[in-house]
Amino acid sequence: MDVIVGIDLGTTNSLCSVFKDGQPKLIPNTHGSFLTPSVVGLLEDGQVVVGAAAKELRVTHPDRTASCFKRSMGLDRVIEMGKQEFSATKLSSLVLKSLRGDAEDFLGHPVEQVVITVPAYFNDNQRQATKQAGEMAGLKVRRIINEPTAAALTYGFHDRDSEKHLMVIDLGGGTFDVTLMEIFEGTLEIISTAGESMLGGEDFTDRLVSTVLKKEGLHLETAEMTQPVRTARLREECENAKRQLMTEGKSRIRLPDEAGTFDDSKVFKLNSAVFAKIVEPLMKRIKDPINRALRDGDFGPEKIDDVILVGGATRMPVLQGFVTDFFEKEPLVTYNPDEVVALGAAIQAALIGDDAAVDEIVMTDVCPFTLGVEVAKDFGGRVSSGYYQPVIHRNTTIPVSREEQFGTMAANQQEVLLMVYQGESRKVADNLCLGELRIVDIPPGPAGTEILVRFTYDLNGLLEVEAMLPSTGKKFNTVLTNHSSSLSSVELKAAVREMQKLKFYPRDELRHRRLVLYSERMVGEVGSFHRQQLEDAIDVFEHAMTLGDRSVFDSARLSLLMTLEQMGVGYDEPDEPDEDLAGGNAAGGSR
Ligand code: ADP
Ligand code: MG
Repeated sequence: MDVIVGIDLGTTNSLCSVFKDGQPKLIPNTHGSFLTPSVVGLLEDGQVVVGAAAKELRVTHPDRTASCFKRSMGLDRVIEMGKQEFSATKLSSLVLKSLRGDAEDFLGHPVEQVVITVPAYFNDNQRQATKQAGEMAGLKVRRIINEPTAAALTYGFHDRDSEKHLMVIDLGGGTFDVTLMEIFEGTLEIISTAGESMLGGEDFTDRLVSTVLKKEGLHLETAEMTQPVRTARLREECENAKRQLMTEGKSRIRLPDEAGTFDDSKVFKLNSAVFAKIVEPLMKRIKDPINRALRDGDFGPEKIDDVILVGGATRMPVLQGFVTDFFEKEPLVTYNPDEVVALGAAIQAALIGDDAAVDEIVMTDVCPFTLGVEVAKDFGGRVSSGYYQPVIHRNTTIPVSREEQFGTMAANQQEVLLMVYQGESRKVADNLCLGELRIVDIPPGPAGTEILVRFTYDLNGLLEVEAMLPSTGKKFNTVLTNHSSSLSSVELKAAVREMQKLKFYPRDELRHRRLVLYSERMVGEVGSFHRQQLEDAIDVFEHAMTLGDRSVFDSARLSLLMTLEQMGVGYDEPDEPDEDLAGGNAAGGSR
């Protein structure tokens, strides 16, 4: 089947979507939810669980789970899970595999092609890694698109006849993007993009955790190493407290002891003002990219017609308050900020698939950062290296291909090592090195022998660099491979084989396993008085899962659910989502 599925591969949550009957629709997972936590876990027997079940496991067995790995995409970082080592790319591919399974279940046929969204501010290494994660999951990645662009597509699709300037502010779990755009007669034109790929809602939670730990005389990094369960439980408390500020304006954080058990006498009181003070340094970092995107577009905040909030962390009152003050208007949250990117990915899939419903929509995007090479400068005979020469300037409309002319430094120079960078600084040391291109066999000639360098930045945001010696016509090109996270095709095949050895926990039983993992987490939450009764109910249910007797199973499940309920820690699993809700999600505004 040639249907293309859209995937929003988030730091904290991932979603899957499809364009159907003229509308983008979200695809529910086995738990009936559209949001799949981007958490991977290994059960005791080594089986892989992804999503809600892994999130439960993260609290009780942080050592056997991995989360927030999107932050390590494109880095040569090894992430330990259980006793095994993974790259962020591999962990992401497990999430993609799980979403693919959900899509195949929902659609009733195999899925082989995807559009994956990435933060606009993702660099070349991070984008390559994302594409390879798709390939490791056996998927053909038809397009990598920027998350704020996808969000804008959702707004543009439903409001295509309007004429306005929009600013999309996307604060997810781990990344921050700001995009300025114009909608005009069905044309969506991105004017400028700015952001930070290391700033998100998780940093706000981190600051809260670290503030509470400090009161106990502990540092976050040390506590994570020495008291992982305590830190994991405290993090869960802080996350909930942070979210509660949206509805209540205040909340309480219970402090677990070293074993992770809560003692209700130890409580940290939080309110919006205290929280604002704690996260002040982060809020300062939010302002810069907004100003940069406006400056690049030559805009003032007053020229923005609508400010669109995207990403779960834009629910924070402190963020909404800032945006309202800055733009002097209330932001728009017409679509659920968790879902709007995934819906846009489905619209992008429809554009690629030439669906008639998106006939009149035209979309243009930009390259979010400047790309260039290292050059040496000659100051009257004193040659100094380390300077940055841009080839493609930031916010150039893509796809773009630009050629620049360079010369050799010395007479009869045979080789040039072209270093490729991304960034805005004058010196390469302050920019990000993307890779290198070795130009060899330069024929003898004077200093200044011509070398042409061409940069091509495609619609996926991937860069190709090509050099040519006009004197010989010889060409050199590279897909930048500076990092080991970027695999050759042989390595990729080996990785796919390795991934296939990992066994996924059976999909149709995942809901039940999640209930067990949830209940196990609650063993640490309920008082010691109830503990035995809960453990007994879990034992009975777990045993019933292996028996294959429906009525025994149903009664054990019910009994476990009732036990949890009685203990005040009721399990609430979303029901099957309503078909109508999946289409467009127009009523999803969640302010
Ligand atoms: P990503 O796309 O990176 O996975 P999401 O858009 O799902 O991120 O947003 C996740 C982030 O949003 C998390 O850091 C979470 O703490 C935060 N978040 C979600 N709901 C709320 C809320 N009500 N208040 C504050 N933060 C929230
Ligand atoms: Mg997101």
